[in-house]
Amino acid sequence: MSERTPFIVGNWKMYKTVMEAREALTLLRVAVRDVNGVDCGVAPPFPALDVCADILAGSHIALAGQNLYPEDEGAFTGEVSAPMLKAVGATHVILGHSERRHLFGEDDALIARKVKAAVDRELVPILCVGETQEQREADETVAVVTTQLSRGLAEVKGAGLPNLVVAYEPVWAIGTGLSATPGQAQHVHALIRDFLGDLLGPTNAAQIRIQYGGSVKPDNAAELFAEPDIDGALVGGASLDPDSFAAIVEAAAR
Ligand code: PEP
Repeated sequence: MSERTPFIVGNWKMYKTVMEAREALTLLRVAVRDVNGVDCGVAPPFPALDVCADILAGSHIALAGQNLYPEDEGAFTGEVSAPMLKAVGATHVILGHSERRHLFGEDDALIARKVKAAVDRELVPILCVGETQEQREADETVAVVTTQLSRGLAEVKGAGLPNLVVAYEPVWAIGTGLSATPGQAQHVHALIRDFLGDLLGPTNAAQIRIQYGGSVKPDNAAELFAEPDIDGALVGGASLDPDSFAAIVEAAAR
């Protein structure tokens, strides 16, 4: 039996105004109030972080940033730093999401600097890795994922990282409605845990939570969470509706 508490995080991406975020989170807070044995969190757009921190005060729902820039401050128009996220009450930050990699050209070297900035400022990184459809078809999944991991963690290797969260998100499954099967996901999760064992030591690897992300919904969540190395989910579309997100959180608690 794994001792890792499942962790479900809702990535709201560029959805929800401040008012919509307030409404959704107020409902979500009530909906997951009595769910035990699972950790959960939300990553709202930056403008809504402050309001969300107020709503979450005293709850067990974690607040996450969707990104950061790896300098504390400076002339970096449009960017947000780790200390800024900390100051608003965030405890986690999503880094290396495939939309950042593919739409905004983030490479592993930049992501490594972001991971270091997060760790230095005591924000827990949720490091996303995953292969495209073409890479999967070319049998490159393992090479892609392990390269993203070793490069993404290059600047923090050796530091105690038991809090690190890794999200395995096959790009072909994100926002497509086409989830990986539990077997496909478990296969990659087990490889990731083995690889983390080589990189960070077996004790860290056994504690690190590896989320699955890619079209997780209330009706496929339980079968994914039944796999031994799937420690929860990073949820996009289905996290926007408080009832469906709460149903996924409940599926992880069972
Ligand atoms: C994501 O963006 O991290 C994600 C997994 O999205 P979706 O659940 O919509 O596939």
